[in-house]
Amino acid sequence: MVQHVSVIGAGTMGRGIAYTCAAAGLSIAVHDIDPHMLKTCKEYIAGQFQKASEKELLTVEQANAYSENILYTTSLEEATEQADLVIEAVLEIMELKIKIFKQLDKFAPKHAILATNTSTMSPTEIGAQTSRPSQCIALHFFNPVPKMKLIEVICGLETSEDTVAKSFQFGEKIKKECVRINEFPGFAVSRMNCLIGNEAMKMVMEGVGSIKDIDKAMKLGLNHPMGPLELADLVGLDTRLRNMEYLYKTLGETYRPCPILTKYVKAGRLGKKTGRGFYEYNHEK
Ligand code: NAD
Repeated sequence: MVQHVSVIGAGTMGRGIAYTCAAAGLSIAVHDIDPHMLKTCKEYIAGQFQKASEKELLTVEQANAYSENILYTTSLEEATEQADLVIEAVLEIMELKIKIFKQLDKFAPKHAILATNTSTMSPTEIGAQTSRPSQCIALHFFNPVPKMKLIEVICGLETSEDTVAKSFQFGEKIKKECVRINEFPGFAVSRMNCLIGNEAMKMVMEGVGSIKDIDKAMKLGLNHPMGPLELADLVGLDTRLRNMEYLYKTLGETYRPCPILTKYVKAGRLGKKTGRGFYEYNHEK
């Protein structure tokens, strides 16, 4: 039974995963190499707990107790020494994920499951670099994590049934719905969603419609809760570009990143997190 979760990477996804697990009463350690990201993560989690207690989803005492159950540390060893489950949420770069998994294998207890929150990449390839590939899996959360119900549970070639069963139990504990997906680049959701987003970007480039109207068309015409460009801004255009580059490499031409996406990333227009992407935001980091 998972009691202690270690989250590696305190960015957009890591902080949401850490809050969601903490709000389910689990004990948490959050690790990032950047102390500023840990600070931002702590502030985000405090804000989420405050909102939850204002809405009377938790008592103030519960919120305080859960907040105190979170350790923030720049030491990977300290973050993982008590883990039953580690969830890695660092940048979508295979070499980085492999490097971190090798260290996790060294530091985390032998029984711990090592999960990656990759949107597209192979848990088989990542797990193969450890001494415990049967305990490696991808748990793909969605943004914003506290609101989104789904976890895609992606089994690598060597992932054991025990690891899958424990992952589903963990999903239930944190009140998410799980689907079981066999490994293939992009899994189920990113494979479809990245394509829709890329097509929307091509339509902007071709002058088919304005950014707002393309988003509005998808929201009102297909009942999507967010438009594809708005969603790309929320994901982070740098993250989306890495997703597209991986899918282009593994699945071919259909996934060639739209030039406008590359151009925006080069300009530092990374979406909501930097205050400007396809839309402009009041920037508070
Ligand atoms: P992000 O850029 O917001 O955060 C990444 C964090 O990793 C940063 O805080 C960074 O300091 C930290 N980091 C970098 N190198 C590190 C290291 N060596 N050790 C520890 N921490 C390190 O990225 P994100 O959007 O949260 O994405 C994280 C992962 O989640 C990616 O694999 C991404 O594909 C996946 N994902 C993202 C979304 C999304 O909507 N953003 C959705 C689902 C899955």
